[in-house]
Amino acid sequence: MAFDFLQDKDRIFTNVYGFQSWVLKASQKRGDWDNTADIIKRGNDKIIEEMKASGLRGRGGAGFPTGLKWSFMPKEAPKDSQGNPRPSFLVINADESEPGSCKDREILRNDPHKLIEGALIAGFAMRARAAYIYIRGEYIFEAKIMEAAVKEAYDAGLIGKNAAKSGYDFDVFVHRGAGAYICGEETAMIESLEGKKGQPRLKPPFPAGAGLYGCPTTVNNVESIAVVPTIMRRGAAWFASFGREGNHGTKLFQVSGHVNKPAVFEEAMSIPFKDMIEKHCGGITGGWDNLLAVIPGGSSVPLVPAEQIMDAPMDFDGLKDVGSGLGTAAVIVMDKSTDIVRAISRLSYFYKHESCGQCTPCREGTGWMWRVMEKMRDGDAEIADIDTLYEVTKQVEGHTICALGDAAAWPIQGLIKHFRPEMERRIREHKGEEMIPEVMEAAE
Ligand code: SF4
Repeated sequence: MAFDFLQDKDRIFTNVYGFQSWVLKASQKRGDWDNTADIIKRGNDKIIEEMKASGLRGRGGAGFPTGLKWSFMPKEAPKDSQGNPRPSFLVINADESEPGSCKDREILRNDPHKLIEGALIAGFAMRARAAYIYIRGEYIFEAKIMEAAVKEAYDAGLIGKNAAKSGYDFDVFVHRGAGAYICGEETAMIESLEGKKGQPRLKPPFPAGAGLYGCPTTVNNVESIAVVPTIMRRGAAWFASFGREGNHGTKLFQVSGHVNKPAVFEEAMSIPFKDMIEKHCGGITGGWDNLLAVIPGGSSVPLVPAEQIMDAPMDFDGLKDVGSGLGTAAVIVMDKSTDIVRAISRLSYFYKHESCGQCTPCREGTGWMWRVMEKMRDGDAEIADIDTLYEVTKQVEGHTICALGDAAAWPIQGLIKHFRPEMERRIREHKGEEMIPEVMEAAE
């Protein structure tokens, strides 16, 4: 059955390419800040219920249901040791540092008012006093635009005291990071906002219980918050009409690598991979027979070989079924000109470099895996080293404080699972050994 592509009338991000101005007036013409007070007057619980019904799952990688996450925030403000009520906070993750991921950047620089309005509605729903937008350090231009947009919103009375004439007081702060990948992990981000070294915290306690400054906090991705105003205006049923069961909505996809037209675009969830590449990216360089493999969700998810990805629905469950994940929907396409072992060894270097170093399996394991991957790249290893490497990835996976350990392990596991014959071929070639015909055939 042919896929129903997203129509222009259903696009949430109508200025994703920056063809129009990001300023308040232009944003209002596109429908932002239209009677926001009316949405807020529906009440906290109604907004959360609507978000739950929309089926929105977090767009930052983990895919946790957004409305459900908000519902974990306390309805009654917890008290400090003096009996004073403690505030709650919304933290917006604009750290976007995953290799391949570049969608939040388009929202920050082309549609900042969608994010600010979403922050107000989401913040109100979870009874937060303020939102902190934590922007990746390298996004200098985007941080400047966000700061200017926040000022515009304050000047127009849309945030601050009696925000948008809703009777609710709500502040928005823009905070720039210093360029550490690990600060995209929610508790590391909170540590960094508090002025400390960005290192993940042990959980529990979870941020909804004790987050920023020890107060209840929810951390949400930029896209998850920026879609909120449109969902509230057009209704949960409209948003839920896109995508398969459990994978609803529209999504910003980012396709890079060996396609004819790399692009960021909004599309309905669950679009089959091949349809998506044909429609939005002009096909694979050299044609479909030239496709080698795809990393479908940003560098931390396992690669999927060409024959398995073709018909896969681009959603959380569809990519899980092929042993990978949707992540941030940062799709990295590799054609047959790619040195796949070298590509994965380069990712291993990235994770080794970005490990915060506080837990041993990650600190030692990422460095070890990278060094062995360099040897695999050159073929300067033993066949048995492939099994040892796999075992080490299994010992790192799931044995660390945060998911960076998994993120370092999974790309290597994907490589071994799907391209072991190629790894063996290199080792034998390096040794000058004669190729085993079956291995040669599998490696080709
Ligand atoms: Fe730090 Fe790595 Fe441990 Fe995460 S897994 S806390 S990045 S050492």
